[in-house]
Amino acid sequence: MDTQQVLAELGIEEINRGAYAGGWIETHGSELQSINPATGEVIASITRANGDDYEKVAANSVETFERWRMLPAPKRGEYVRLVGNALREKKTALGALVTMEMGKILPEGEGEVQEMIDIADFAVGLSRQLYGLTMASERPLHRMYEQWHPLGPVGTITSFNFPTAVWSWNSLIAAVCGDTNIWKPSSETPLTAIAVTNITHEVMAGTGFEGVFNLAIGSGSDVGDLMVKDRRVPLVSATGSCDMGYKVGTELAKRLGRAILELGGNNAIIVMDDADIELAVRAATFAAVGTAGQRCTSLRRMIVHKDVFDEVAKRMVSTYAQVTIGDPLAAGILMGPLVNETAVYNMLTALDIAKSEGGEVLTGGNRLEDLGPAYIEPTIVKMSKDAPILQEETFAPLLYLIEVDSLEEGIAVQNGVRQGLSSAIFTDSLKNAEKFLSHLGSDCGIANVNIGTSGAEIGGAFGGEKETGGGREAGSDSWKAYMRRQTTTINWGDDLPLAQGVEFV
Ligand code: NAD
Repeated sequence: MDTQQVLAELGIEEINRGAYAGGWIETHGSELQSINPATGEVIASITRANGDDYEKVAANSVETFERWRMLPAPKRGEYVRLVGNALREKKTALGALVTMEMGKILPEGEGEVQEMIDIADFAVGLSRQLYGLTMASERPLHRMYEQWHPLGPVGTITSFNFPTAVWSWNSLIAAVCGDTNIWKPSSETPLTAIAVTNITHEVMAGTGFEGVFNLAIGSGSDVGDLMVKDRRVPLVSATGSCDMGYKVGTELAKRLGRAILELGGNNAIIVMDDADIELAVRAATFAAVGTAGQRCTSLRRMIVHKDVFDEVAKRMVSTYAQVTIGDPLAAGILMGPLVNETAVYNMLTALDIAKSEGGEVLTGGNRLEDLGPAYIEPTIVKMSKDAPILQEETFAPLLYLIEVDSLEEGIAVQNGVRQGLSSAIFTDSLKNAEKFLSHLGSDCGIANVNIGTSGAEIGGAFGGEKETGGGREAGSDSWKAYMRRQTTTINWGDDLPLAQGVEFV
């Protein structure tokens, strides 16, 4: 499929409207260009939403919510099932657009759309399982239980690196919960947001529920800020950097709004002396180089036991030499460009700091200007465990290799950062694995054994601790964040016994 076919199939025009309020509306903000990082070419333009346009989107979300919540949850699930089917039909085109707009390789672009389909399936099942608990009341002839009600319009702020999947984690789950959605995508990836909204529009058109999936494209500091301050939006789910999370979290706290914060990671793998080294090296390479190191779960720190450090370092360097870099749409390529030239600059800056802190570059470190301005070699740097740069998440294929003496030291190094998203251990020892998974081990939201840090399945609750924000999205019971809980006690007797045995008149 060439670019024009992809755009035509997804309804992308040369200049696109940046807001959907139950239908595409005229927008009045500034122009935004979507640029293909692999070629530097403009794919298409968007007229951003301004404040008045956002107002229409928000008002529509509120109005649609009043009616959407009246549908029984399984009926809402039926609409989400149709969205999942529509995504199946558009998987090839949408996967290609993800690749064209943010630069991940095509199998990963299509994998991202598959993740949306999986979430749709999960949400459909969930639409018949929004269970509340029943408790034993301490009072005779009383019944006590909790039930879950729709919450309202949910604001979803997404990052560039998973431009469509993160929307689905939030919006499709929220939809079966009875909520409507306002999506503010990253300015790096507006076209994938328009394409997804065209897909949901086709499913919802003519049903009266077009306003369940809404969109407002604009920068974080205008449209994003309006949404975060909007009291009609009871929950904002924001995915992105810790810097963004400090701002969004603070603004939401000022109005006591609810937040799901999915922020930066600083993920680590511990490789023990009893590990299957081959497995560890393969997993670490995928985790550090996949998506050009631009996953929130990408491997940043490989913490290796001293007895196997040299062997691991040698094998990592030789595996990196086999990574094919180039056009992310081409077959056989494992790594494409970074999202833009600024990301390359940020990686080079981090590399300079690492070197000034005693880092030794084992492989990589060079720009690949022949391929384009956003290409750079995946890089491994040997660092001492106390280097300050290890505290920072550099959103690029930059991996630090750190030597430690023991499991305890490895865990201390791993946990000694502000972020707490994903972690893993490679070991064939049951004791090591269990210690790593125990309360004495990893402090992260995700802790794996003999699997890398990235590539989570949707069935689990996804998110991280500490300054990663504490939010959970996708599987397990994450749906509860999109609903309000009500605890109910019913007295079906003739007396009025009080809790805790209190006597009162
Ligand atoms: P970013 O923080 O630059 O932007 C993310 C989104 O926040 C964008 O839509 C942006 O416009 C918006 N935003 C920025 N400031 C805002 C404000 N003041 N108010 C409202 N919205 C605002 O992040 P990015 O570069 O797009 O993505 C990379 C980052 O996202 C990395 O740090 C990565 O680890 C993180 N991430 C985390 C997860 C997770 O689940 N924990 C998943 C994906 C990405």
